[in-house]
Amino acid sequence: MADHHLSGKPPVPLTLRRSARARRISLRVSSLDGRVTLTLPKQVSDREALAFAEEKSDWIRSHLARQPEVICADLGATLPVDGTNRLVVASPLRRVSLEADRVLVPAATAQRSLQRFLRELARDRLAEACDHYAGRLGRNYSRITLRDTRSRWGSCSWEGALMFSWRLILAPPDVLRYVAAHEVAHLTEMNHSPAFWSLVRDLYGSYEPQRRWLRDNGGLLHRYSFDG
Ligand SMILES: [Zn+2]
Repeated sequence: MADHHLSGKPPVPLTLRRSARARRISLRVSSLDGRVTLTLPKQVSDREALAFAEEKSDWIRSHLARQPEVICADLGATLPVDGTNRLVVASPLRRVSLEADRVLVPAATAQRSLQRFLRELARDRLAEACDHYAGRLGRNYSRITLRDTRSRWGSCSWEGALMFSWRLILAPPDVLRYVAAHEVAHLTEMNHSPAFWSLVRDLYGSYEPQRRWLRDNGGLLHRYSFDG
């Protein structure tokens, strides 16, 4: 597939998507990563779609200007590891270590090492929380999988497999624990009925502030980039 860009500076990458259900060209700027997607009816040509995007160029650029900036998770950056802001500094050692307000990483592999460390820490914290809530519920889960999902923070399958976004380790610890309790509660209630929410309350306590935090701030956890 050809690469398309909006003309002008800086060039803006455009993703073209054809949909059998689309009746007209529509345009979307993702609030998570600033990706610009044009959805087109099948019979619309690339050229028509690009002309449409050029027409809307001012609108696209003004939307992009409001995006949270991408933060490169490298030496010198500040990251909310385990919910606490910590400065990323070079370590003389070959492993990552966490201090009160710093995270020490091997300089040569900073981003890769940091991401691996965060995934492991996320797994530890989530496994601990899930074990705790599953124990209280008297249910077992089959496994925990970590992904870098944008559409959801966690899920629970019919087979009892739990999935979480590893970026929850960048949220406050109570938010991570709320998501764990939420998914564990789905082991009993596979829905979002009043019975489900009352179970979440039994397991976790009052969860509204954590839910609100995710809704208001969750998108910001995606602004950290670990690949250069
Ligand atoms: Zn749910």
